[in-house]
Amino acid sequence: MDVFKISVDTQQFHKITQDNFDQVTKKQAPWYQPINGHQGWFAVCPACDNPIQIIGMLERDAPYGKHFFPTAGAVSVPLKGRTDKEEYEWCPYASKNKHLTKDDRRAAGSELAVLIKQILIEQFDRVIYLLEKTTGMRISFALAKQMLEEYRAAEGWRYRGATRQNIPWVFAYMMQAKRVRGRTFFDKKLTEDLLTRRPDLTCNTNGKIDIKDDTKFCDLSFSFIRHRRHVNQHTLSESIEFNIANSKQETVCKREIIFEHDYFLKLINSKNEASRRMNFVELARSVLA
Ligand SMILES: [Zn+2]
Repeated sequence: MDVFKISVDTQQFHKITQDNFDQVTKKQAPWYQPINGHQGWFAVCPACDNPIQIIGMLERDAPYGKHFFPTAGAVSVPLKGRTDKEEYEWCPYASKNKHLTKDDRRAAGSELAVLIKQILIEQFDRVIYLLEKTTGMRISFALAKQMLEEYRAAEGWRYRGATRQNIPWVFAYMMQAKRVRGRTFFDKKLTEDLLTRRPDLTCNTNGKIDIKDDTKFCDLSFSFIRHRRHVNQHTLSESIEFNIANSKQETVCKREIIFEHDYFLKLINSKNEASRRMNFVELARSVLA
């Protein structure tokens, strides 16, 4: 992996470079710790909260992080004090080729699952903001509520592909198909595509999609499908597909949505409390808590 964090309790992750590592650890233990008579650098995996060792810190090529599981009793496990093999098995940085399905689930009491749910509640207005930005579609209070109820029914926090970094997108992924008619799109390109493919539709000046002939039925629905994750040269990339389909399950329009883990982190660390919409947070709390 190409990112690290310095404790299990934080969501703040950093790119692995010697400068970044020194800056946040000040070269102190337990991050700096000799191992087998050599210098060792330890941190925590941002996705599965297991310890990692930084490999090649002093070499010319870019250093990277590798999950660290010392043989029993040989060295104490830095930072967390213990390891969680099950989370490791499904860590996106470890299970490169493992194909995920929505039915792959964590145990009910999983620590990470509980944390994911808690963060979703506390940051719910930002999750909605981010999804509106990335889909180009307005998410009304009513839609947000439906999505929360479906997330609760699916126990989305237990989905194996859910991490603390991808909360907004996995939240959307748990949603069942919803009708398109009456939704507001502010992505001009997407609206154009949609109206070109479906001349029976129209769009008002606010971007609201409607059907031209009011006596007709609009069969279109949208959903989020195909969660994919891939590690290339230690860098994780994840995506889902924002799909608009007709009643024959034929795709009419689609967009690949690339997860921007950094952007989500920036949003939740933002000190701008004035722009927060606490009614969304209260909504999430009332449905999920
Ligand atoms: Zn991991």
